[in-house]
Order: sequence, then structure tokens, then C-alpha cells
Amino acid sequence: MIGHYWIGWIWAIVAAPFIGSFIGVLVQRLPAGMPVMFARSACPHCDRQLSPTDLVPVASWLASGGRCRYCATPLGLFYPGIEVAALGVAVWAAVALPDPVLIWAGCMLGWSLLGGAMVDSRHLMLPDILVLPLIPAGILLHGWLATDVWIDHLAGALIGFALFAVISLVYRRLRGREGLGLGDAKLLAAAGAWVGWVGLPSVVLFGAVFGLAMALVMRLTGRDVGRVTELPFGPALALAFWLVWLYGPLVPA
Ligand SMILES: [Zn+2]
Repeated sequence: MIGHYWIGWIWAIVAAPFIGSFIGVLVQRLPAGMPVMFARSACPHCDRQLSPTDLVPVASWLASGGRCRYCATPLGLFYPGIEVAALGVAVWAAVALPDPVLIWAGCMLGWSLLGGAMVDSRHLMLPDILVLPLIPAGILLHGWLATDVWIDHLAGALIGFALFAVISLVYRRLRGREGLGLGDAKLLAAAGAWVGWVGLPSVVLFGAVFGLAMALVMRLTGRDVGRVTELPFGPALALAFWLVWLYGPLVPA
């Protein structure tokens, strides 16, 4: 079965930069309500439609010196960055997981979380289309891997959603403004579907620690982070979700 394993992860690594490129399109277009499928990519500056040779991940960007081939506008690091990040997810999954099915499941999870975290950090919203499919996917995958525990994953999804939805509701009643969005509740539901209810406390704990660390870094780098600044919680929660799914929850000694 060694051959099987290698084929699984080599395909994931080959596909990753192209998926990253697609995630980049999602991040740019989902919040604006623009069509995602069947829309040709165009330079945001000169509107020239890009040809397939302009769309090879990372390589096209390097070949054109990071500029549009037609109008020479710098294209920024967004696309090559997200393509490299998607490749990083695939390599991480391939290193951490034992078999091709899990590696592919891990890639799908990691790529969805990467896209969700990117959209949240730019637009303070988590798109349903990236988060909600993770809920049935997590329950089905774990049900299929070990048929006796799928109920733990269903319970995880329900408890995860209920926990953040209640906090969100209470906060809004008390403070009169949004503290925790329903997007975060859906993401915690997805986390519960993947790590089971047993893993939820670890996801919430790590998410809170990463969220505070991110706020601290933003403050230290000179950004104004006050008591009412809206910070995206999605990226911190997504990272916690990923780590707990890969390495398991904290176990009390
Ligand atoms: Zn251009």
C-alpha cells in the first residue's frame, strides 16, 4: 500500500497551487457577490482577460515580475501568497496524516479554512459556502472511518453551534452590538463535526488564545485596537480547529 500512499499525497501537492489560485478567486469575489464559476479572470486594473498562460500558479507571477503583462500594474503578493499557503496546507496534511483518504480530507478541510480565514480577515464575514459543507463532511467522514462514533461528531456540531449562538445572543442583549457573529457559530459547528464534542473545549481555548495573540500583535504593530474594534475571530478559530483535528484535543493529565 506504500505506492497508494505516495500517489495520494503527490496528487494533493500537485493540485494545491491551482486550488490556491481558485481560493484566491473566491476570496476576491465571494464577498462582492460576484460569480465564482465560469467567469474568466481579468486584470483588476486594465480589465484585460487573462489567458491560461497568465494563470499558472506562482510561475506566471514570477515570469511577469509580479506585474500585469498588459498594463504593467503591480499585481501584489495576494495570489502567489495564497497559492503558496494552499501548498503549505497540502504538505502539512501529507506530513501529519497516515493515509491518502485522510490526506485528501485534510486538504479539503485546510483549503476551506484557509479561504474562510482570508475572507474573514478582509471582510469580517465567514462565507456559508466555505463553512457549511464542512459540517456534513466532518460527520460523514468520521462516521465512515469509525462507524460507532459518528454520533459524537453530530453532537459536536450541535453543541458547537449552540454554544457560540447563545454567547452571541447574550452579548448582543447586554451590549447592544455584535460581539461574536453567527459565522463563528457555524465555524464552531463545523469544528465539532470534525473533532467531536470532546475536542470542542480545546478548539475554543486555542481559538481564544490565538485571537488574543493576534490582537496583541496588531496593537504592537501600531494598529488601533480598542475595546470596540471589530476583530475577525475566524482566522484564530480556523487555526485552532485545524490543529485540534490534526493532533487531537488537550487531554487532562
Ligand atoms: Zn492589467
